[in-house]
Amino acid sequence: MTVLLDRGCNTNTAHSAPVLRERGQREVFCGLTGIVWLHRKMQDAFFLIVGSRTCAHLMQSAAGVMIFAEPRFATAIIEERDLAGLADANDELDKTVQRLLARRPDIKLLFLVGSCPSEVIKLDLSRAAQRLSKNYSPKVRILNYSGSGIETTFTQGEDACLASLVPELPSDDSSNPSLLVVGALADVVEDQFRRLFEQLGVGPVRFFPSGSADNLPAVGPNTHMLLAQPFLSETARLLEERGAKRLSAPFPLGVEGTRAWLKAAASAWRVSDTKFESVIEMPRARAEKALERYRNTLSGKSIFFFPDSQLEIPLARFLSRELKMSLTEVGTPYLHKDHLEQELAMLPQDIQLSEGQDVDKQLDRCRAERPDLSVCGLGLANPLEAEGLTTKWAIELVFTPIQGFEQAGDLAELFARPLRRRMRLAV
Ligand code: SF4
Repeated sequence: MTVLLDRGCNTNTAHSAPVLRERGQREVFCGLTGIVWLHRKMQDAFFLIVGSRTCAHLMQSAAGVMIFAEPRFATAIIEERDLAGLADANDELDKTVQRLLARRPDIKLLFLVGSCPSEVIKLDLSRAAQRLSKNYSPKVRILNYSGSGIETTFTQGEDACLASLVPELPSDDSSNPSLLVVGALADVVEDQFRRLFEQLGVGPVRFFPSGSADNLPAVGPNTHMLLAQPFLSETARLLEERGAKRLSAPFPLGVEGTRAWLKAAASAWRVSDTKFESVIEMPRARAEKALERYRNTLSGKSIFFFPDSQLEIPLARFLSRELKMSLTEVGTPYLHKDHLEQELAMLPQDIQLSEGQDVDKQLDRCRAERPDLSVCGLGLANPLEAEGLTTKWAIELVFTPIQGFEQAGDLAELFARPLRRRMRLAV
């Protein structure tokens, strides 16, 4: 385990407070979790996890559902004889895919999703995807990515999935600019943003991932890319290699973040300030009103973020600036300083930023702070609650629509609810 203290002055961020870097025991979900929201978004895709019974159980409990009539994810279980090398795992996988695609002609895009067990036995899913594609392409595209928990955190599953799709995106050679919004958003949020962009005259706008494999967004040198999620570093890198240009912006959380995010696109399209302010006036006013009712509950309360979703820094910015919460430690699994440049510049200077995790040391720091609210993974929530600390599950922040003006109140509610529950219990 190593601990590095990095002074921000060697970076391009305006945040100059030291960043505590830790490498040690971590308490996070693995990248398979992303399938829970991705399978809802990508309507004709299927996620075949090549993993163990543990992976299957994780998926069923994370999804909060039992498998019903026509699921869009499943686990091909690696049995003991596969692990012992007694069976040819590739043959077994080919047969499983054949049975699946014969039964499910609606599948247009099949992801073979690697796991810790498939990585341990060194099952090469990239070769498997290429081999299977020869049989099923063009009717079914077969891709692969890793959701293994060996070195990843749970939102990296979406990054890995979208990164595997980037080479499949058609080329856009048009000389007219287009906007590509990158990162899975709930349909309701996507519709709201689409309407706002239309009113601003920004477009054409495409969303990635799209709802259908037949409608993948095109990308090219005149594509402006606006990240909707802060955990898509590999996807963004690959899109930049395809010519897309990233618009630097905070993330669309809260009134301020949403306004600045929309403004980044509006500025690229040279929308006048007057038009911009008039288009956002009503939704912005609604969002500000929605936040008002949470200020009493949240203002002045201290909050500690364990590293989990990679949303921590944008959330900390929203909670400190718009709801006047007091930030103690803001931990994040990875600190992508380019993508978070504007977020970091908006954070107070006196907070502790940390990257990575050495969970026991971080728990000690949290206990010493005794924050009013701790945002953490499920594994830490129960022990902290037992010690009298109030917690918020980070995973809920990814499963809930929180982006945009209309969701600003819902986002504040997610933090206010555990505090109200604690107050009721204390009475
Ligand atoms: S991929 Fe690894 S961490 Fe995730 S459920 Fe399977 S065994 Fe566990």
